[in-house]
Amino acid sequence: MRGLLRLALLCAALLGALPVWAQDLSALARLDPAASSITGDADEVTVTLAISQPVPWRVRILDDPPRLVMDFREVDWSDAGRIARSGDAVTDLRAGVFRAGWSRLVLELSGPFTVQQAGMQTAGAARVTVRLAKASHGAFTAAAALPEPPEWALPEPSALPVVADESGGPLRVVLDPGHGGIDPGAERDGQSEASLMLSFARELKERMIREGDFAVTMTREEDVFVPLETRISIARAAGAQVFVSLHADAIAEGEATGATVYTLSDEASDEASRTLAERHDRDDLLSGVDLTRQDDLVATILMDMARTDTTPRIDRLAGALAAAIQAAGVKMHRHPIQQAGFSVLKSPDIPSVLLELGFLSSGSDLKRLNDPAWRDQMQGAIIAGLRDWHAADQALRKQ
Ligand SMILES: [Zn+2]
Repeated sequence: MRGLLRLALLCAALLGALPVWAQDLSALARLDPAASSITGDADEVTVTLAISQPVPWRVRILDDPPRLVMDFREVDWSDAGRIARSGDAVTDLRAGVFRAGWSRLVLELSGPFTVQQAGMQTAGAARVTVRLAKASHGAFTAAAALPEPPEWALPEPSALPVVADESGGPLRVVLDPGHGGIDPGAERDGQSEASLMLSFARELKERMIREGDFAVTMTREEDVFVPLETRISIARAAGAQVFVSLHADAIAEGEATGATVYTLSDEASDEASRTLAERHDRDDLLSGVDLTRQDDLVATILMDMARTDTTPRIDRLAGALAAAIQAAGVKMHRHPIQQAGFSVLKSPDIPSVLLELGFLSSGSDLKRLNDPAWRDQMQGAIIAGLRDWHAADQALRKQ
């Protein structure tokens, strides 16, 4: 109880004139103190915080006294006093509203530490991990002296990029024929995945344009090598509302046959955010939000949030495509929807799927890919699936 009381008192001190928890508490993310901990010794501290949902956050070190400061958008810290603590590197814990819409958690430190690692896992509930290591006085002072970004305030969640609602306009589709150029993809009987996918995509594009309601861009129009990241950039430049990568890989084990819709797995999503955030050309990564002046951590969080928005849309996209393919009577793999860490699916804010039309390792799949009637059936199914998804997606997003 002593901790709670202290927390309440310090909240009041931090808040100044602001009323305690004046915000709508129902809107707050909640801390799960039982799943949170602060552990460590004189050299290293690990802070783990379990929060009911991902929120934008940031972390920094301040001096006088040495402390770790974490700002979160609307997290209710009233249970922070119940976080299990071991070791004596953290001498005090405080929490309160830092400013409207933002709450701050402060860990007072026994000496100079710097942040070695900070991250938030955002699959389902959020899990924040911050690792501190004992630092030299110089390193600590430098970290603590870093200026506050002039406008570190993050955009409102509603300002996060969403694909513009353009009811009535054509659906902007990017078709990505897998492989190409020096990378033929799977090969069998003198045929390559790269060339089969290119001709399939060309036919599909023509038909989509003929049928109307679609604006189609292809990541390659000929037999050239296009790096995976360039494919994502092409999609972004085209203002893609949906990205469909087309493949027919060979699988060595088992008897893979039939079409499969792949989405990006959660685990890969998080890693993708991290890797993408480290890149220089951040404005390429997330349309609508200027990330160039944000630090890496903030960039990661914003992308995670975009992904939180995109993930259910991708799941519905995969479902709609699989349903349409099945409805068209096209053979599907016995696991028609699967997840994998395909790099080309890593756009945080463009719903992306990878369609294995079949497997070149299967003779019957290869035969089907070469059959114009089968291709026509499959192309019709993809178009129907995209239409169904788009209609449902727009209806849901208007709610
Ligand atoms: Zn492939």
